[in-house]
Amino acid sequence: MDKATSSFSLHGIPVSRGIAIGRAHIFAPAALDVRHYLVPEQQVENEVQRLQDALATVQRELQTIWSDLPPDAPAELGAFIDVHVLILSDPMISEMPLEIIRKRHYNAEWALVTQIDELSAQFEEIEDPYLRERKNDIGQVGERVLKVLTGTASKLPAVDADESYAQMIVVAHDVSPADMLQFRHSAFAGFITDLGGQNSHTAIVARSLDIPAVVGLANGSSLVLQDDWIVIDGDAGVVIIDPSPLVLQQYRERQQLLVRERKKLSRLRKTPAITIDGTPIDMMANIELPEDCATAMEVGATGVGLFRSEFLFLGRIHAGRLPTEDEQFESYRQAVVAMKGRPVTIRTLDIGADKPLHPHHSDETALNPALGLRAIRYCLTEPQMFLTQLRAILRASAYGPIHLLIPMLAHAFEIDQTLLMVEQAKAQLRQSKRKFDEQIPVGAMIEIPAAALSLPLFVKRMDFLSVGTNDLIQYTLAIDRVDHEVAHLYNPLHPAVLHLIGTTISAGAKAGKPVAVCGEMAGDIRLTRLLLGMGLRQFSMHPGQILAVKQEVLNTDLSLISAQTRKILRAYDPDTINEAVEQLREM
Ligand code: PEP
Ligand code: MG
Repeated sequence: MDKATSSFSLHGIPVSRGIAIGRAHIFAPAALDVRHYLVPEQQVENEVQRLQDALATVQRELQTIWSDLPPDAPAELGAFIDVHVLILSDPMISEMPLEIIRKRHYNAEWALVTQIDELSAQFEEIEDPYLRERKNDIGQVGERVLKVLTGTASKLPAVDADESYAQMIVVAHDVSPADMLQFRHSAFAGFITDLGGQNSHTAIVARSLDIPAVVGLANGSSLVLQDDWIVIDGDAGVVIIDPSPLVLQQYRERQQLLVRERKKLSRLRKTPAITIDGTPIDMMANIELPEDCATAMEVGATGVGLFRSEFLFLGRIHAGRLPTEDEQFESYRQAVVAMKGRPVTIRTLDIGADKPLHPHHSDETALNPALGLRAIRYCLTEPQMFLTQLRAILRASAYGPIHLLIPMLAHAFEIDQTLLMVEQAKAQLRQSKRKFDEQIPVGAMIEIPAAALSLPLFVKRMDFLSVGTNDLIQYTLAIDRVDHEVAHLYNPLHPAVLHLIGTTISAGAKAGKPVAVCGEMAGDIRLTRLLLGMGLRQFSMHPGQILAVKQEVLNTDLSLISAQTRKILRAYDPDTINEAVEQLREM
């Protein structure tokens, strides 16, 4: 692609709908590890001062280390410190980051890592191995300054009122779900990445933030320059760089149209989700953090169908430890109180695969992390950690209805061990005279094909089921949900997938056990009628999708769609299935 032609477009995988227009902010990997926000104009010089102070502190630290060196210390040690002192006083480190703060309004940490990444990339290209090695020294000096900066955290709020902030488009090679947590504190307009798939957890968080996003751009991000104007079409998966004024105008109009449509939908907030023939449907929310309950309540969610509790852990690992029982309890209690008597389904820790506990340190020994020690498998190998979480969830159940949901179960012994541990956690709480709901319902995620093919095991032992279509599709079709190279094979309408979902819904109905769908299929309006026709009565999705799905429910007469649904479930030919699903939408 020729950069000189100015305007050009990139094509990727649309993961979060809508139109975003803004300027590119390029994120290097290291920049993702620090907090980043834009500093309002009037505070820029304070931020510059904060970085200058940190640089001066490190300068003094290095001088103290140097003068405290014992006389018999190896000569290289002194030389090593000399190099660091030189690096620190080089304008590339002592002045350029200050310019970045002044020009781009980045906070000090972000400005520093941006500059260090830039320098590291330049050093990579040097042929002389000795000079190339200096890249590590620059990194170490940067670490020292960052440590001081962290100790003098900026007084600025994480979210600032600067208007331009809302126009920031994040451009990155990859963003992990843990990184996305950092972004939650920043109201940016959209993001584009080279890697990622439709249902990677990064994409899921983007949808929950309700910001347009396109992933899987191959190496597209390298063609974007800092501050380029960008349009993201999150519906079509198209990214336009440096759009012409005419194109920009067209997208602004589409953006306004979408805002108007959303406004219209917001009238449905308090309308109960009931089909034309009078069947009530549960519209629940998927959340990552307790504060998301506010948005869930705003759109009239009937409860939380999936609280991905691992996000409490991903966020906290930056503090160097896992959240304690009391800290977890407080988060779960906060959620259940915020939902005002509506049930909150808390899923136990689903760590592993694309959500490693330690950011940027995925388990390199596991060749197939999605098939590895993930979710309940991990929890059963860490009984103390699991019991801590179970006690915290149980304690919160004294404050409102909580349902306990277990991810990635496949084997009978896993179910038995899990239920035993729930009993153990209850016994511990009884002993310490803590209150909890003795009857707390315990349910299983049905997201491994083996589980969907051995439902009697589950309906007998569990109180409810929740279909995780994201993983169910991943494992049924053998495609890594984060791998953009196989993203085109990710097909919710594959007959095998529909069969497994259909049999799960029927098995639940037969056994009198509630079944929900909490994977991304539940929030896709193209599939609402199909799921209703299959007998689904509980949907759980991002709060941002609830109103649109509710509108579909309100326009559906179950008696008119059952024959067509049966036809779809009997079909194997993809064209027949796609056409029939389209027709179903028009009935
Ligand atoms: C799923 O697999 O569909 C699901 C809801 O869980 P997660 O996306 O967190 O794996
Ligand atoms: Mg899952």
